[in-house]
Amino acid sequence: MTTVTRFAPSPNGMLHLGHAFAAVIAHDLAAERGGRFLLRIEDIDGARSKPELAEAFRKDLSWLGLDWGEVPAQSLRLASYAAAADKLRDASLLYPCVCSRAEIKAAATQIGPEGPVYPGTCKGRALDPSQPHVLRLDVAAALRRTGPLRWVDELAGEQQARPELLGDVVLVRKDEPASYHLAATLDDAVDGVTLVTRGKDLFAASHVHRLLQALLGLPVPTWHHHALLLDAEGRKLAKRRGSQSLADLREGGEDGLLLAEQLRLHRFPSGISLEEA
Ligand code: GLU
Repeated sequence: MTTVTRFAPSPNGMLHLGHAFAAVIAHDLAAERGGRFLLRIEDIDGARSKPELAEAFRKDLSWLGLDWGEVPAQSLRLASYAAAADKLRDASLLYPCVCSRAEIKAAATQIGPEGPVYPGTCKGRALDPSQPHVLRLDVAAALRRTGPLRWVDELAGEQQARPELLGDVVLVRKDEPASYHLAATLDDAVDGVTLVTRGKDLFAASHVHRLLQALLGLPVPTWHHHALLLDAEGRKLAKRRGSQSLADLREGGEDGLLLAEQLRLHRFPSGISLEEA
């Protein structure tokens, strides 16, 4: 089977060194195995999405010396997300929820890998359907349907799927027909991605994605969750914390090919390090 990897940035901020590292890894894993490397713009983040950034992302990747095939951006695939959500709703696996972030924080009794775990407040509650709401996955009901599931991370080994760690995640947002979990899982299947590469910060999300694959009859890829780059304070790089953008480096005349080579050799600019295993 041909290896297909992808880099799937969200255009809500410029790319930084952490993205360059992720893109080089995804590109090289495909190249080493004679496969294909895809770019997918994940632009369904409401007002935070700035479509014009996609062009800067392409320039960044070219500057790094990477070549890729581009698949349609998420904003062009909304109908497929709605169809999948309908299928899950028809199977009684989704329920509406009107809780605010603050209410969830106050009511949660568990902190999961992505913050407070939704305590199921709206499950079984009769809600006025005209009230703006999200749709959540009833994870317990879903797992009853699928039975135990497993998935494989090339680095961390075989995993038992534990979607309950994240609780009843949102699959349909108020303002979009999908959340990241639903959209990315469907897209990876449609795009023929066989090796999902992304940072370890999204490791737990893969438990949910594995469950969605089973529910929706999608092919199951292998995963490769790589270590993240950290700043001098040991925090993951983020534009909002002042991490320098690739566009700044590019426009400042830095050599992108050299940067990509340095990243491959794990030689990072001063103050940047790779998170410990
Ligand atoms: N769009 C996501 C991000 O920028 C990437 C998620 C993924 O690779 O699955 O964080």
